[in-house]
Amino acid sequence: MKIIKALSLLKEKGLSNTGSRKRILEALMFSSGPLSAHEIYQRLLKEGVNCNESTVYRNLQKFLEKDLVQSFTLNDGVSRFEFKKSSDDHHHHIVCLKCKMMKCLDLCKVEDYFEEMIKKLGFVSVSHNLEFYGVCKSCTNSGLK
Ligand SMILES: [Zn+2]
Ligand SMILES: [Zn+2]
Ligand SMILES: [Zn+2]
Repeated sequence: MKIIKALSLLKEKGLSNTGSRKRILEALMFSSGPLSAHEIYQRLLKEGVNCNESTVYRNLQKFLEKDLVQSFTLNDGVSRFEFKKSSDDHHHHIVCLKCKMMKCLDLCKVEDYFEEMIKKLGFVSVSHNLEFYGVCKSCTNSGLK
């Protein structure tokens, strides 16, 4: 997705284009998993964007209001935000038990597996919630040192 896209999305949602707002949205769009306000802040700092963590947090709340992002809260109490590709964007995540990093698992076939059983039970409008846990590569590597 191009930078233009972030700009037009902001416009579409009636949000004014402040420099940091655009950069926050871009960080989310290009991420391979949900990010916390702190992680986004760290990324922007690295890119030389002048902002502070509370600005990032406030903008994320705005994005949430406008349905641009969805948020997840793990048992560490930290909210992580993810760009919503579409209104029916359905996928799952794998969470690192050590550093709490989340990655998207883009494909979901769960309902295919259970379709027959669910049909037999006579349920309609079926949905599900599912999370995977493990230890990420960098945590595994640092444990080996
Ligand atoms: Zn980890
Ligand atoms: Zn995701
Ligand atoms: Zn699923």
